[in-house]
Amino acid sequence: MSAIHARGDLPYRCKCGYSELIRMADFSFQQTRPIPKGPDLGSEICHMGAVTAKCANCGEECLVEIDLWEYPVGAIDAITSYCEGCQLLMAKETLRRFISLKG
Ligand SMILES: [Zn+2]
Repeated sequence: MSAIHARGDLPYRCKCGYSELIRMADFSFQQTRPIPKGPDLGSEICHMGAVTAKCANCGEECLVEIDLWEYPVGAIDAITSYCEGCQLLMAKETLRRFISLKG
């Protein structure tokens, strides 16, 4: 199991059109128990972090959730994001620049 190292600011846009930044340092990642992938395949771990930011323009609660899948241990298999009330202003692949694993 590894710890998450997150850095930088994520640009996002509220549904009202207002753009802001979320600090990666504000995500407090929690990790799941290891999830078995199958016989002889080891386990994967999901690190989940979420931030809710109130839009300075319209007051909307913008939710950004980031899930990092660690598999095999120490390696990033995938990073996914989920937003409510807003959208991230970047390609999903770009998220990898903001997050790394410290073994
Ligand atoms: Zn807004």
